[in-house]
Amino acid sequence: MPKIRAKVRINLHISKLFCTFAENISIVRLNMRWLRAIITGWKDLLFPLCCPICGKVLEQENECICRDCLKLLPRTDQAVLRDNLTEDLFVDEPQFCRGASFLFYHKGKEIQHLLHLLKYGDYPQIGYELGRQAAYEYMQTDFFEDIKVIMPVPLHPNRLKKRGYNQSEWIARGLGDVLGIPVDTSHLTREVNNKKQALQKGIGREQNVAGIFAVNHPEELYHTHILLVDDIITTGSTLRSCMQTMRAFKGSKVSVFAIARAT
Ligand SMILES: [Zn+2]
Repeated sequence: MPKIRAKVRINLHISKLFCTFAENISIVRLNMRWLRAIITGWKDLLFPLCCPICGKVLEQENECICRDCLKLLPRTDQAVLRDNLTEDLFVDEPQFCRGASFLFYHKGKEIQHLLHLLKYGDYPQIGYELGRQAAYEYMQTDFFEDIKVIMPVPLHPNRLKKRGYNQSEWIARGLGDVLGIPVDTSHLTREVNNKKQALQKGIGREQNVAGIFAVNHPEELYHTHILLVDDIITTGSTLRSCMQTMRAFKGSKVSVFAIARAT
Protein backbone atom coordinates (compact mmCIF):
# COMPACT_ATOMS: atom_id res chain seq x y z
CA MET A 1 0.00 0.00 0.00
CA PRO A 2 2.69 2.57 0.94
CA LYS A 3 4.44 1.65 -2.30
CA ILE A 4 1.29 2.53 -4.29
CA ARG A 5 0.94 5.85 -2.37
CA ALA A 6 4.57 6.69 -3.15
CA LYS A 7 3.97 5.90 -6.82
CA VAL A 8 0.87 8.14 -6.90
CA ARG A 9 2.87 10.93 -5.18
CA ILE A 10 5.65 10.59 -7.77
CA ASN A 11 3.10 10.67 -10.60
CA LEU A 12 1.46 13.75 -9.11
CA HIS A 13 4.83 15.41 -8.79
CA ILE A 14 5.70 14.63 -12.42
CA SER A 15 2.36 15.89 -13.66
CA LYS A 16 2.78 19.12 -11.58
CA LEU A 17 6.25 19.60 -13.07
CA PHE A 18 4.83 19.01 -16.53
CA CYS A 19 2.04 21.57 -15.92
CA THR A 20 4.54 24.20 -14.73
CA PHE A 21 6.70 23.51 -17.79
CA ALA A 22 3.68 23.77 -20.12
CA GLU A 23 2.60 27.00 -18.40
CA ASN A 24 6.07 28.46 -18.87
CA ILE A 25 6.09 27.47 -22.51
CA SER A 26 2.69 29.11 -23.10
CA ILE A 27 3.88 32.26 -21.27
CA VAL A 28 6.96 32.37 -23.53
CA ARG A 29 4.70 31.79 -26.56
CA LEU A 30 2.33 34.53 -25.41
CA ASN A 31 5.24 36.91 -24.91
CA MET A 32 6.61 36.03 -28.36
CA ARG A 33 3.19 36.78 -29.83
CA TRP A 34 3.15 40.16 -28.08
CA LEU A 35 6.68 40.87 -29.25
CA ARG A 36 5.77 39.97 -32.82
CA ALA A 37 2.64 42.15 -32.62
CA ILE A 38 4.68 45.06 -31.29
CA ILE A 39 7.34 44.67 -34.04
CA THR A 40 4.65 44.40 -36.75
CA GLY A 41 2.86 47.40 -35.25
CA TRP A 42 6.04 49.49 -35.36
CA LYS A 43 6.86 48.30 -38.87
CA ASP A 44 3.35 49.25 -40.04
CA LEU A 45 3.65 52.59 -38.27
CA LEU A 46 7.06 53.39 -39.73
CA PHE A 47 6.50 51.87 -43.18
CA PRO A 48 2.74 51.71 -43.75
CA LEU A 49 1.54 50.09 -46.97
CA CYS A 50 0.19 52.77 -49.30
CA CYS A 51 -2.06 52.63 -52.34
CA PRO A 52 0.28 52.75 -55.38
CA ILE A 53 -2.18 55.05 -57.19
CA CYS A 54 -3.23 57.75 -54.70
CA GLY A 55 -0.66 57.17 -51.93
CA LYS A 56 -3.31 56.81 -49.22
CA VAL A 57 -2.38 54.50 -46.33
CA LEU A 58 -4.14 51.17 -46.78
CA GLU A 59 -6.35 50.23 -43.87
CA GLN A 60 -7.56 46.76 -44.74
CA GLU A 61 -5.26 43.82 -44.19
CA ASN A 62 -4.06 42.18 -47.46
CA GLU A 63 -5.32 45.16 -49.49
CA CYS A 64 -2.85 46.61 -52.00
CA ILE A 65 -5.02 49.09 -53.92
CA CYS A 66 -7.46 51.32 -52.04
CA ARG A 67 -11.20 50.83 -52.60
CA ASP A 68 -11.64 54.28 -54.20
CA CYS A 69 -8.89 53.72 -56.79
CA LEU A 70 -10.07 50.19 -57.50
CA LYS A 71 -13.54 51.52 -58.29
CA LEU A 72 -12.16 54.12 -60.72
CA LEU A 73 -10.10 51.77 -62.91
CA PRO A 74 -11.64 51.74 -66.44
CA ARG A 75 -13.86 48.62 -66.83
CA THR A 76 -14.43 47.20 -70.32
CA ASP A 77 -17.66 45.34 -69.44
CA GLN A 78 -16.55 42.66 -71.89
CA ALA A 79 -17.99 39.88 -69.73
CA VAL A 80 -21.41 40.85 -71.04
CA LEU A 81 -20.39 42.11 -74.48
CA ARG A 82 -20.02 39.46 -77.18
CA ASP A 83 -17.70 40.06 -80.18
CA ASN A 84 -15.78 42.46 -78.00
CA LEU A 85 -12.23 43.75 -78.51
CA THR A 86 -10.75 40.67 -76.82
CA GLU A 87 -12.89 38.06 -78.60
CA ASP A 88 -12.12 39.66 -81.99
CA LEU A 89 -8.51 38.46 -81.69
CA PHE A 90 -9.28 34.77 -81.29
CA VAL A 91 -12.34 34.02 -83.43
CA ASP A 92 -10.25 31.97 -85.88
CA GLU A 93 -9.05 29.56 -83.20
CA PRO A 94 -11.23 26.42 -83.38
CA GLN A 95 -11.40 25.79 -79.61
CA PHE A 96 -12.02 29.41 -78.68
CA CYS A 97 -15.15 30.00 -76.65
CA ARG A 98 -15.26 33.42 -74.93
CA GLY A 99 -12.90 36.25 -74.11
CA ALA A 100 -12.82 39.29 -71.84
CA SER A 101 -10.31 41.78 -70.52
CA PHE A 102 -11.25 43.33 -67.21
CA LEU A 103 -9.82 46.83 -67.80
CA PHE A 104 -8.77 49.12 -70.63
CA TYR A 105 -5.03 49.74 -70.81
CA HIS A 106 -4.05 53.36 -71.39
CA LYS A 107 -0.43 54.46 -71.54
CA GLY A 108 0.56 56.94 -68.85
CA LYS A 109 -2.53 56.10 -66.75
CA GLU A 110 -2.93 54.28 -63.44
CA ILE A 111 -3.37 50.90 -65.12
CA GLN A 112 0.06 51.15 -66.76
CA HIS A 113 1.63 51.89 -63.37
CA LEU A 114 -0.19 48.96 -61.75
CA LEU A 115 0.78 46.46 -64.44
CA HIS A 116 4.38 47.65 -64.36
CA LEU A 117 4.49 47.06 -60.59
CA LEU A 118 2.86 43.67 -61.06
CA LYS A 119 5.34 42.54 -63.69
CA TYR A 120 8.60 44.23 -62.76
CA GLY A 121 8.09 45.72 -59.29
CA ASP A 122 8.07 42.53 -57.21
CA TYR A 123 4.45 43.24 -56.34
CA PRO A 124 2.50 40.11 -57.43
CA GLN A 125 -0.23 40.82 -54.85
CA ILE A 126 -1.62 43.42 -57.29
CA GLY A 127 -2.38 40.59 -59.72
CA TYR A 128 -4.07 38.59 -56.98
CA GLU A 129 -6.23 41.52 -55.90
CA LEU A 130 -7.24 42.46 -59.46
CA GLY A 131 -8.05 38.80 -60.16
CA ARG A 132 -10.25 38.64 -57.06
CA GLN A 133 -12.01 41.89 -57.93
CA ALA A 134 -12.69 40.74 -61.51
CA ALA A 135 -14.06 37.43 -60.22
CA TYR A 136 -16.48 39.19 -57.82
CA GLU A 137 -17.74 41.48 -60.59
CA TYR A 138 -17.93 38.78 -63.30
CA MET A 139 -19.76 36.41 -60.98
CA GLN A 140 -22.83 38.51 -61.73
CA THR A 141 -22.55 37.35 -65.38
CA ASP A 142 -22.34 33.93 -67.05
CA PHE A 143 -18.73 34.46 -68.18
CA PHE A 144 -17.17 31.80 -65.93
CA GLU A 145 -20.00 29.33 -66.38
CA ASP A 146 -18.78 25.83 -67.21
CA ILE A 147 -15.04 26.66 -66.67
CA LYS A 148 -13.34 23.65 -65.05
CA VAL A 149 -9.69 24.73 -64.90
CA ILE A 150 -7.86 28.06 -64.82
CA MET A 151 -4.50 28.06 -66.60
CA PRO A 152 -2.08 30.99 -66.45
CA VAL A 153 0.17 31.66 -69.46
CA PRO A 154 3.41 30.00 -68.30
CA LEU A 155 6.78 31.71 -67.99
CA HIS A 156 9.99 30.00 -69.07
CA PRO A 157 11.71 28.50 -65.97
CA ASN A 158 14.69 30.89 -66.41
CA ARG A 159 12.44 33.95 -66.40
CA LEU A 160 10.43 32.54 -63.51
CA LYS A 161 13.63 32.11 -61.50
CA LYS A 162 14.75 35.66 -62.31
CA ARG A 163 11.39 37.30 -61.51
CA GLY A 164 10.53 35.00 -58.64
CA TYR A 165 6.88 34.63 -59.63
CA ASN A 166 4.56 34.37 -62.60
CA GLN A 167 2.29 37.42 -62.56
CA SER A 168 -0.40 35.60 -64.58
CA GLU A 169 -0.46 32.83 -61.99
CA TRP A 170 -1.19 35.37 -59.24
CA ILE A 171 -4.12 36.71 -61.31
CA ALA A 172 -5.30 33.12 -61.87
CA ARG A 173 -5.06 32.37 -58.12
CA GLY A 174 -7.11 35.49 -57.31
CA LEU A 175 -9.81 34.32 -59.73
CA GLY A 176 -9.61 30.70 -58.57
CA ASP A 177 -9.90 31.52 -54.86
CA VAL A 178 -13.11 33.51 -55.37
CA LEU A 179 -14.65 31.17 -57.95
CA GLY A 180 -13.58 27.92 -56.31
CA ILE A 181 -12.03 26.69 -59.59
CA PRO A 182 -8.61 24.95 -59.53
CA VAL A 183 -5.53 26.62 -61.04
CA ASP A 184 -3.39 24.35 -63.20
CA THR A 185 0.30 25.12 -63.84
CA SER A 186 1.51 21.71 -64.92
CA HIS A 187 -0.19 20.84 -68.23
CA LEU A 188 1.04 23.84 -70.24
CA THR A 189 4.72 24.86 -70.21
CA ARG A 190 6.93 27.35 -72.02
CA GLU A 191 9.84 25.51 -73.60
CA VAL A 192 11.59 28.44 -75.29
CA ASN A 193 12.79 31.54 -73.47
CA ASN A 194 11.71 33.93 -76.22
CA LYS A 195 12.60 37.61 -76.40
CA LYS A 196 10.27 40.03 -74.58
CA GLN A 197 7.07 40.57 -76.57
CA ALA A 198 7.01 44.26 -75.64
CA LEU A 199 10.19 44.72 -77.69
CA GLN A 200 8.70 43.12 -80.82
CA LYS A 201 6.61 44.80 -83.48
CA GLY A 202 4.04 43.61 -86.04
CA ILE A 203 4.71 40.18 -87.52
CA GLY A 204 7.76 39.84 -85.23
CA ARG A 205 5.43 39.33 -82.25
CA GLU A 206 3.76 36.38 -83.95
CA GLN A 207 7.11 34.78 -84.93
CA ASN A 208 8.60 35.43 -81.49
CA VAL A 209 6.04 33.18 -79.79
CA ALA A 210 5.42 30.55 -82.48
CA GLY A 211 5.86 27.01 -81.16
CA ILE A 212 7.31 28.05 -77.80
CA PHE A 213 4.74 26.21 -75.63
CA ALA A 214 4.30 22.50 -74.91
CA VAL A 215 1.76 20.31 -73.11
CA ASN A 216 2.16 17.51 -70.54
CA HIS A 217 -0.28 14.63 -70.24
CA PRO A 218 -2.82 16.24 -72.61
CA GLU A 219 -5.21 13.30 -72.18
CA GLU A 220 -5.94 14.50 -68.63
CA LEU A 221 -7.59 17.62 -70.05
CA TYR A 222 -9.56 16.18 -72.96
CA HIS A 223 -13.08 17.68 -73.22
CA THR A 224 -12.38 20.33 -70.56
CA HIS A 225 -13.35 23.99 -70.64
CA ILE A 226 -10.14 25.88 -69.75
CA LEU A 227 -9.79 29.55 -68.86
CA LEU A 228 -6.46 30.85 -70.14
CA VAL A 229 -5.20 33.85 -68.13
CA ASP A 230 -2.73 36.60 -69.00
CA ASP A 231 -1.92 40.03 -67.55
CA ILE A 232 -2.27 42.13 -70.71
CA ILE A 233 -3.42 41.48 -74.25
CA THR A 234 -1.94 43.57 -77.06
CA THR A 235 -2.05 41.68 -80.37
CA GLY A 236 -3.08 38.38 -78.75
CA SER A 237 -0.17 36.50 -80.38
CA THR A 238 1.04 34.86 -77.11
CA LEU A 239 -2.43 33.57 -76.28
CA ARG A 240 -2.97 32.38 -79.87
CA SER A 241 0.31 30.44 -79.66
CA CYS A 242 -0.88 28.87 -76.38
CA MET A 243 -4.20 27.91 -77.96
CA GLN A 244 -2.49 26.30 -80.96
CA THR A 245 -0.48 24.11 -78.56
CA MET A 246 -3.59 23.45 -76.47
CA ARG A 247 -5.25 21.78 -79.45
CA ALA A 248 -3.56 18.69 -77.99
CA PHE A 249 -6.26 18.84 -75.27
CA LYS A 250 -8.69 17.15 -77.62
CA GLY A 251 -12.31 18.24 -77.45
CA SER A 252 -11.44 21.07 -75.05
CA LYS A 253 -12.81 24.61 -75.13
CA VAL A 254 -10.65 27.62 -74.32
CA SER A 255 -11.85 30.95 -72.95
CA VAL A 256 -9.52 33.85 -72.39
CA PHE A 257 -9.25 36.36 -69.56
CA ALA A 258 -6.77 39.20 -69.11
CA ILE A 259 -6.54 42.06 -66.67
CA ALA A 260 -6.11 44.63 -69.42
CA ARG A 261 -6.58 45.08 -73.14
CA ALA A 262 -4.23 47.45 -74.91
CA THR A 263 -5.68 49.06 -78.03
ZN1 LIG B 1 -5.86 54.80 -53.91
